Amino acid sequence: MASESSQATVLVTRRVPRAVLDAIARHATLRIWEGDNPIPRETLLEWLPGCAGLYCMLTDRIDPEVLDAGSSLRVISQMAVGVDNIDLSACTARGIPVGNTPGVLTETTADLALALILATLRRVIESAAFIKAGQWVTWRPMELVGRDLHHSTVGIIGFGRIGKAVAKRLRGFDCHILYTQRSPDPDAARLGAAYVDLPTLLASSDVVTLHCPLTVETRGLIGARELAQMRQEAILVNTSRGPVIDQAALVEALAAGRIAGAGLDVTDPEPIPSDSPLLSMPQVVVLPHIGSATIATRTKMAELAADNLIAGLAGKRLPHLANPAVYPEA
Ligand code: NAP
Repeated sequence: MASESSQATVLVTRRVPRAVLDAIARHATLRIWEGDNPIPRETLLEWLPGCAGLYCMLTDRIDPEVLDAGSSLRVISQMAVGVDNIDLSACTARGIPVGNTPGVLTETTADLALALILATLRRVIESAAFIKAGQWVTWRPMELVGRDLHHSTVGIIGFGRIGKAVAKRLRGFDCHILYTQRSPDPDAARLGAAYVDLPTLLASSDVVTLHCPLTVETRGLIGARELAQMRQEAILVNTSRGPVIDQAALVEALAAGRIAGAGLDVTDPEPIPSDSPLLSMPQVVVLPHIGSATIATRTKMAELAADNLIAGLAGKRLPHLANPAVYPEA
């Protein structure tokens, strides 16, 4: 769809709710990639020239080549909180503010983290597959036995919005909560969480759950050495970004029984190849990056991304800004 006039043009890289498109259309002419799959790179490069705004998704790689094509861009707004697909310093260097959608997806993503923790510990997906395959003969005392979440020790890596929302839920399970990140959080005591270093967290936890962003520092944060520091009965859960875990090392650790299982909402790459060994391991639950996927939350994310975009088009500070250094006073 491309009905263009003299007002600013915005490229929207995926179909989002109609009401959100209508809100943007009050401020700009839209160029929308209507496909259900990511906009092809060539199309993105071809459609960007002349656009003042880019409304994008985490599946779009926004690098210097894209920014060169979009030399008229005044704002980039992503419908996600994580912005690891965007070269933020290149955007800052060009004076382009980048918006993201923190907060509105916190509780929904924390719910999914709990679902993954429980599904992995209690072998929920494996048990459902077992019954569907007609393998259930009778109740057996030790069949499909899993591990308890209640009263277990859970280590949270990245104690930000989502990490804390996970901690809040874990208190209801009477868990002992440890966390690590670059600096201690003053809120942690209120949530009953103790700050420890990464090796202590790995060695002490029954569940290790990842909630840090993907950055140069966190890429490969959990590799062979860290997996070896985990307890053999422990599980690893990831609802952050796939490359935070060295996936080849994870496959090895799981195959060798060095850890008990994994629950992954995110993988490296995405989609995970259908022949990945992880998909045939019964102790592994893999989901297609559905952390924030509820109707209410995805709608709020789309609206927030529109608010950021419209502010940027008007030359105002974005309500949610991923690169504050873009403004001189920062
Ligand atoms: P946030 O509030 O910014 O929290 C991130 C936390 O990670 C911060 O407390 C930060 O503390 C910590 N951190 C940063 N660098 C670290 C490092 N090197 N080692 C350990 N901890 C580190 O972000 P959020 O809103 O909770 O979101 C977290 C991430 O979740 C997002 O970036 C996104 O990638 C992912 N996410 C995934 C889904 C999904 O669908 N699966 C949905 C939403 C979000 P310090 O700065 O003190 O280190």
